[in-house]
Amino acid sequence: MKKKIFCIILGVLFLSFHVQAQQSLVYDAQRLEEIVCSELKSSILSTGYQPSIVPHTYDIVNHTLKLEVDPSQFYIKGSVKTGFIPFTNGLNEIYFDLSFNLFVDSVIFQNQSVLFTQLSNDGLKIDFPTALNVSQYYEVTVYYQGVPPTPSVLGGFDTSSHQGVPVAWTLSQPYAAKYWWPCKQSLNDKIDSVEVIVKTPAIYRAGSNGVLLSETVSGPYRISHWKHRYPIPAYLVAFSVSNYDVQTYYIHFSPTDSLLIMEYAYPESMSTVLNESVNMNQMFPLYNDKFGVYPFKNEKYGHMQCNFGGGMEHTTMSSMGVYGYEIIAHELAHQWFGNTVTCKTWDDIWLNEGFATYLTGMVYEYNFPNLWWLVWKKNQVNYITSQPGGSVWVDDTTDIWRIFDGRLTYSKGAMVLHMLRMTIGDSAFFQGIYNYIHDPALRFNYVSTADLKQHLEATSGVDLTYYFNDWIYGQGFPYYDIQWTQNLDLSLYFKLNQTTSHPSISFFKLPVPIQCWFSGNDTLIWLWNTTNGEEFNIPFNVLVDSVVFNPFNDIVAKLSSIQSINNESETLFQLWPNPVREGEFIHLNWMPVSGNAQITCLDVQGKICFIKEIDLNNGQIAISVDELSSGMYLLQMITGDKVVVRKFIR
Ligand SMILES: [Zn+2]
Repeated sequence: MKKKIFCIILGVLFLSFHVQAQQSLVYDAQRLEEIVCSELKSSILSTGYQPSIVPHTYDIVNHTLKLEVDPSQFYIKGSVKTGFIPFTNGLNEIYFDLSFNLFVDSVIFQNQSVLFTQLSNDGLKIDFPTALNVSQYYEVTVYYQGVPPTPSVLGGFDTSSHQGVPVAWTLSQPYAAKYWWPCKQSLNDKIDSVEVIVKTPAIYRAGSNGVLLSETVSGPYRISHWKHRYPIPAYLVAFSVSNYDVQTYYIHFSPTDSLLIMEYAYPESMSTVLNESVNMNQMFPLYNDKFGVYPFKNEKYGHMQCNFGGGMEHTTMSSMGVYGYEIIAHELAHQWFGNTVTCKTWDDIWLNEGFATYLTGMVYEYNFPNLWWLVWKKNQVNYITSQPGGSVWVDDTTDIWRIFDGRLTYSKGAMVLHMLRMTIGDSAFFQGIYNYIHDPALRFNYVSTADLKQHLEATSGVDLTYYFNDWIYGQGFPYYDIQWTQNLDLSLYFKLNQTTSHPSISFFKLPVPIQCWFSGNDTLIWLWNTTNGEEFNIPFNVLVDSVVFNPFNDIVAKLSSIQSINNESETLFQLWPNPVREGEFIHLNWMPVSGNAQITCLDVQGKICFIKEIDLNNGQIAISVDELSSGMYLLQMITGDKVVVRKFIR
């Protein structure tokens, strides 16, 4: 789900890429603002914890939902048949999660009505006339109807209209499936397959998960029959109903391989929807390549339009309140991360949302590496560091705002993946993620943070306990104080001091990117900073003008200060004129002190051009540099333990 995409201030970085933006012909400033400034709110957000009341006494095999929906009515009526297998012998009752607002008419088991009780804590208890056998398959059907709980507070089933035409939809994540159907909404038992059969007035169509098996009009009604044959949690089962225009097309993965795309959009929106959805051509190749071919290729992918402000990744058929590049990429990414591997607890929700957010960034990286990828990372880092605390791990799942916190679950979750990639390298990172999503024990199942960690440790050979402790369970981010200088041999000296924004972590072990500029060129070096106050001497062979900390926002960090440690002696050792022309002398001035020193002149390749012995008592010297060819040079004076460096242009 994509909610609350933060507004961004494009700032300096955006301006510097303005020219490229025009050249890309795909985006302009207005468009980017539309994408990232959509204040997306999901109507599911409630303020109370709504746990499952269902004891884990049986395995759900399948559900068949037969629903009657007229989107002009805020009402739901239907039946849900559940195939299940008891875990133990002698089971004589089972439970479902179902809102107390909905009325159960009857429960049928083996062609007989059986006793049931609706519980005020949103439970449905069904009593069987005889004890059931372990490992045997049974079916039970619940007939129910009623006015669902008010969706603005609780989510679930909702209705609205577009151009005066009604639309109905469902939105269950995380705790609202029970507001429209009897289910087991805990994250411990995926449904092996699900059928959704929706009967509507004939002017409407219903979209849902999986394959459209049939759509028949009978008298004043239309019946849409969908079937999804992959394991699915209750919160990803969905439908929506309106006077949809339906467009289908194929996206080709290879000359012999393609995927059916189904767009269920309002007639007045279809051209916009198709214009936006075509961008999936830039997304599927990346996702297929890095994370394995689209997991539900045998069925389809599609979007069904509805009126909530955001998107929701219902398996094979995302519900969309808005259509834009980022949200399309985000919901599509969830088909791998969220739907194929699903967080085992809501504490682990970053395994859904951090991944979907990072994959959206990766779409920019692969399609617009010098433009939107840089903007995207900058925005994430600015957003994450806008507050000092907060962990990626959800410490309070009773607070749904915390579960879906945009700064922590989405942005920080995404950047934690990016920094992990910087830490262990592309090869180990992508192979580890691939193994994680293809692990037979995890694929189409539930996953934990520990499962991900184990796969990344296996491919990298690195114990990542420190990393997960710092960045998933710990809070905050590092501040860096950096000192640097260039040595006589042109090697670069750095000293990194770190403080942290939150007391839960005293030091973040991270690779720190530093960009070194020389004569209009630059190179990026990574300092593997493992202790506070660590010093580095990095071999270098050209004269550096300046250095920039974290230039592409690859780490979540802030800079406290960066200084060249020559600065102090800048005023004490003056050089002029600069540049120095033919026939002119270079003049050096310093505070007269006793003793001698050596002045060495180097070219940008580090080759010594001349060496002069001087008497420091003089306080000045003039040197002819006529014999030097034009270019940049370095003048170093060594006095005692101090090295003073000046650059000049001849
Ligand atoms: Zn999401």
